[in-house]
Parts: sequence; structure tokens; C-alpha cells
Amino acid sequence: MPLSTSRKAQFTLLLLLGTLLLGGFLATSLASYHASRESIRHNIVNTELPLTSDNIYSEIQKDLIRPTQIASMMSRDTFLRDWALAGELDPEPITRYLREIQDHYGTFTSFFISERTRTYYQAKGVLKQVREDEPRDAWYFRVRQMSEPYEISVDPDMANADQLTFFINFKVFDYEERFIGVAGVGLTVDAVVKLVDDYQRRYDRSIFFTDRSGLLVLTGADGGPMGSRRGQALNTIDGLENLLFELPRPESGNFSYQEHGRGHFLNVRYIPELDWYLFVDKHEEGALAGIRKSLYLNLLICTLITLAVLLLVYLATRRYQRRIAALATTDSLTELPNRRGFDILAAQALQEAQRDSSPLCAVLLDLDNFKALNDAHGHLAGDDVLRRFARQLRGSLRQADILCRWGGEEFILLLKNTDRNAAHELAEKLRQQCAEQRYPVAGEALQVTVSLGLSQWQEGETLHDLLGRTDRALYRAKQAGRDRVCVDP
Ligand code: GH3
Ligand code: MG
Ligand code: MG
Repeated sequence: MPLSTSRKAQFTLLLLLGTLLLGGFLATSLASYHASRESIRHNIVNTELPLTSDNIYSEIQKDLIRPTQIASMMSRDTFLRDWALAGELDPEPITRYLREIQDHYGTFTSFFISERTRTYYQAKGVLKQVREDEPRDAWYFRVRQMSEPYEISVDPDMANADQLTFFINFKVFDYEERFIGVAGVGLTVDAVVKLVDDYQRRYDRSIFFTDRSGLLVLTGADGGPMGSRRGQALNTIDGLENLLFELPRPESGNFSYQEHGRGHFLNVRYIPELDWYLFVDKHEEGALAGIRKSLYLNLLICTLITLAVLLLVYLATRRYQRRIAALATTDSLTELPNRRGFDILAAQALQEAQRDSSPLCAVLLDLDNFKALNDAHGHLAGDDVLRRFARQLRGSLRQADILCRWGGEEFILLLKNTDRNAAHELAEKLRQQCAEQRYPVAGEALQVTVSLGLSQWQEGETLHDLLGRTDRALYRAKQAGRDRVCVDP
């Protein structure tokens, strides 16, 4: 097989092997990555997020609902109502009462607004009169008109440097269910935002709240999803446009959305006490980082294994190829190059002679009456003679001389940088050596002679022409009685 074909076959083998190994590794790695990812996602959606939502809900009950209960209690408080119904004679007792509430329950502010006098009482005393034409007092008239017993609203607190405050406003009624004012407590939004931040930090996911219409009412300090702010509608946020229509009514549910190709999972829970939705949002990036890292590591190891296998296979095939190539050009009996080997060596020698205009001679050697030797002593004895003859011949030549087994009991010799005379001299020496040599076979000393044909390469001549002339010279040597050298004229 020509070298280029075997190279191509080797390349195909390596390509096939590499594809198989990499394909197999890739398939198993990706399959296990996908299985792990599905299990992580399943865990996030079905365990982690609902659990966080439960925890936060109970925290909210503690942190937001408690003030609601306090405000509710205030609205039913007999002291407060009796004091108001008695004509609000002395502000001191109500101030003390509100201060008690504020200090004891740790609220940010506590207040009572009387419907009869429109006076705003708080822990530090009388704040002001509420007026219908004052925009800042609009909340009072809103609460007064609403059918529900209370509301939770976010407004600036003018009693406290206009800090944004969550107010829990309860309507207060007398014993005949007549409206006599509004009482309640306030929590600063800052405090609530810190609360949410604290949740987010503790549970490593983002948390935000919307009202029933999908308006963001409460987020951490960094805002809601994609940096959205309080007051922004959910349906104006990329990826969440349709979420509002899917909101659970009134229970909880799970959703997912994409943010710049990053998967998010959402757990939504309705909080009836606040009439709000609680959103717990977790992006899978962090959760998947671990298995993604092991996927990359896996792929790296697989690639290294594939490369190592390919290298080993490459080295092994190259070794065998060289070995096969050597076998293909070597004669196994004499270990001399065979005819195929001769073709390669002769082409090089001819090229050198042409290039350097140096003399080159060819000598064909044919053992005489070898058939008779075989017949008389057996084929194995003939083989032995051939082997010894070849070894002796090789030993009598220069390293640069090319000696090959031409076939059967014929050998060919190419003498570089050697003219006809020198070649003739050498051929004669070889003939003589052969004639004098004895080959010990089965206790007998066998003798063979050799006939040689010689010719010198002529400028422009092909190898084929040269060998033709040499063969004719050999023929003449045989014709002339064998055991002699004939030179092509
Ligand atoms: P001539 O002097 O004319 O060359 O006579 P010859 O008998 O040598 O010539 P011929 O070509 O008739 O016979 C060659 C013989 O060489 C025949 C064959 O059995 C023998 N021979 C060829 N190759 C081998 C070999 O590898 N081993 C042995 N033992 N004999 C071989
Ligand atoms: Mg012969
Ligand atoms: Mg012969």
C-alpha cells in the first residue's frame, strides 16, 4: 500500500476513534448533567421555594401582621373610644396611651384622628388638624370612605420628617357602630426594606411583594426583578408581562421566566391579611454552577483521555506501519532489500548519479547450476548456501553500495561513484571469492560459482535500459561457460 494511502487510512482511523470517544463521552456527560439539572430544578420548584415562602410568610405574620393586630386592638379599645366620646377634654391621657403603644410594641409611630374634631393625636401630643383640602390628609378621607375595616398604605409620615411609612389604618366606631375616627400604627419602609433584605440574605433569593393589581408594593433595597422599583407594574417588566394573568387565585403557585437567557423560578403566594402577593424568586444560575463546573471538568478529563488514546493509537499504528513497510521491502531469507526495496534505492542512486554526473555501475550475479545443487543436496541446503553467499557478498562491499536479492539465486549490485574498470575489478574479486568459498552443509563442503554481468550507466539512460544491458552481459557470461564476468561493451 502506498504511504499516502496508509496515512489516509491512519487519519480516518484516528478521526473515527476520536469521534466515537468524544461523542460517547459527550453524550454520557450531557445526559448526567441534564439529569442533575432536572433534579435541582425539581428541588427548587417543589421544595426550596415553597419552604422559603412558608418561612417568610410566618416571618411576615410576626413582623407585619402583629402591628395590624395592635392597630385592630386600638380600634376596639374602650379607653380610646370612651375618651373620644367624652369630648377629648384632655390630650394628655391619649398621648400617654399612644406613647405606651409605640414604646411597648416597638412601632415607629401610633396615632388617633378624631372624626368630630379632625385632630391628629400621636405619641408626642397633638400633631395638627386634618383638612379635606390638604393633599397630605387625603388618606384620612380615603379610609373614612372605604367599606373595609382597615387598610395598609405606604405614605410619607409628616410627623417623622416625611419618612416613607407603612401605615395600618383602622376605622374606629362607637358602641352604636358610628364612625368616630381612625387609629393605627406605622412602620418605616426603611425598616421593612431591611426586613426584606434580611430575608433575601438569609435565604439567598430575591423577595418582593405586589398588590392585587400587580403593582410592586415592597422590595429589598436593590429593588424587584431586573432592578424594578416600588410602584412599578409587574406587567412592565421583561419576561413577566403575562404573569399577572396567571397569578394564583387565591392560593400559591410556581412559575418560571427568562432573564437574559437565565432561568428564574418563582413561587407566588397570596397573603390574605395584607391582600398582597408574596414572590420568592430564585435564578438557577447559582444552583447550577456546581454541576456545570463538574460538567466542564468531566469534559476536560474526557478530552484528555481521548487525546491520550489517540496519541497511543497513532504511535502504535505508526510503529506497525513502519514495520510492515520494512517487511515489504526486505527479503526474509537473506535479509537484503528485495526487488521493491531495490526500486526505491535504485531510483535515488540514479538521481544522485544524474545530479552529480558521477559514474554508476550495475552488476547482476547469478549462481551457476544452482538447480543441480538443489537437486543434489535439497532445497534447504540451497537456502543455506544462498544465505551465506548473501552475507559474504554484503561483507565484501562498501556501505554505500546497493545490494539486493533480484529473485531466486540472482542478486543485483549498484556501485555508486564507480566506473566500469573499478567495477570490473570488484566483480572479478567477488567471483573469485565465491569460487574459493566452501559452504559446509550436512558435513559436506559445497562449492558454487557465480556468473556476473556488468554495465555502466550512460547519461540519459533509464534504469530499465541499464538493467537490460546488464542482463545481456550476464547472459553472455553464462553462454561463455559460467564462473566469469562479462562487461557490456
Ligand atoms: P544457470 O547456471 O544457467 O543459472 O543454472 P541454474 O540452475 O542456476 O538456473 P535456473 O534458472 O535453471 O535455476 C535456478 C534454480 O534456483 C532453480 C530454483 O530451484 C533455484 N532457486 C531459486 N530460488 C531459490 C531459493 O530461494 N532457494 C533454493 N534453495 N533454490 C532456489
Ligand atoms: Mg538464474
Ligand atoms: Mg543460476
